[in-house]
Amino acid sequence: MTTIAFIGLGIMGAPMAGHLIDAGHDVIGHNLSRPAVDALVARGGRAATDTADAVREADVVITMVPDSPDVEALVEGDAGIYANAKPGTLHIDCSTIRPDVARRVAAAGAERGIRVVDAPVSGGEAGAIERKLSIMVGGAADDVAAARPYLEAVGSTVVHVGPAGAGQTVKAANQLIVAGNIQLLAEALVFLEAHEVDTEAATAVLGGGLAGSTVLDRKAAGMRARTFDPGFRIDLHHKDLGIVTAAAREARVAIPLGAHVAQLVASLRAQGHGGLDHSALLLQVLQLSGRDTP
Ligand code: NAD
Repeated sequence: MTTIAFIGLGIMGAPMAGHLIDAGHDVIGHNLSRPAVDALVARGGRAATDTADAVREADVVITMVPDSPDVEALVEGDAGIYANAKPGTLHIDCSTIRPDVARRVAAAGAERGIRVVDAPVSGGEAGAIERKLSIMVGGAADDVAAARPYLEAVGSTVVHVGPAGAGQTVKAANQLIVAGNIQLLAEALVFLEAHEVDTEAATAVLGGGLAGSTVLDRKAAGMRARTFDPGFRIDLHHKDLGIVTAAAREARVAIPLGAHVAQLVASLRAQGHGGLDHSALLLQVLQLSGRDTP
């Protein structure tokens, strides 16, 4: 049994922390709002009052918070993770953040004797609940090996992809593919509806061919029913497409379709839909096509 501090008990963090409890670990939870901590305690975990309290006796610290500034704020300062964790503690950051920030965080950890790996995840809320996350891990080989048992308790595919920050670079590519995929699925559904085709039958057959995808399997039914509860919020995908476009520019790589989809996601967000699931890209295709929106 390992003592694990789990910070960030949101849509993804809550089920992941639950699986670690089920695997027999002593999980100490911390979150900005209290109900998520109470839910963790009801599942068999323990509550911390703040970050320092959460990490003091931990062997492993896992963070699952929204964005780069959130991770930096958590690790830095007298009240932060690195000032309060024991030397030798393993910090696994599962948040999706900028690769350059992940490298900086890893260097800041190393200065304090903390071993850091970036381990962003893919698979969405359903993947987190079903323990089917795909996890792309960056860091030193021995630190990644140390993190593997905890990652395998929450995911089904765990791959070491390179040094610190490499996990985040792979995750950025993942978000590029997913956004483009959802946009094209939205366009296909509106196209089919306009032709009065049965979209349930259509998606069943599309799913069996080259057009099939996990996006289609997981998102088409909700899009057809016009239900856009997150899931993965537009706000977070907007953040991720900012990471992709900046990293592509830095590497002098052109991503014309990805950049276009980034604009469509930004537009949807500017219209006040940042809290909806990213499958709400369908709404914009309906608007652009002059069709009724829910
Ligand atoms: P979320 O907003 O549901 O949860 C984030 C949680 O972090 C919140 O409960 C918040 O209270 C907590 N938090 C933020 N700052 C904190 C702090 N300083 N101390 C303690 N708690 C803090 O977000 P989510 O959907 O669970 O996403 C988390 C991360 O995982 C993001 O980086 C996101 O891009 C990534 N991700 C999400 C999904 C998804 O489908 N939701 C899929 C893959 C990756």
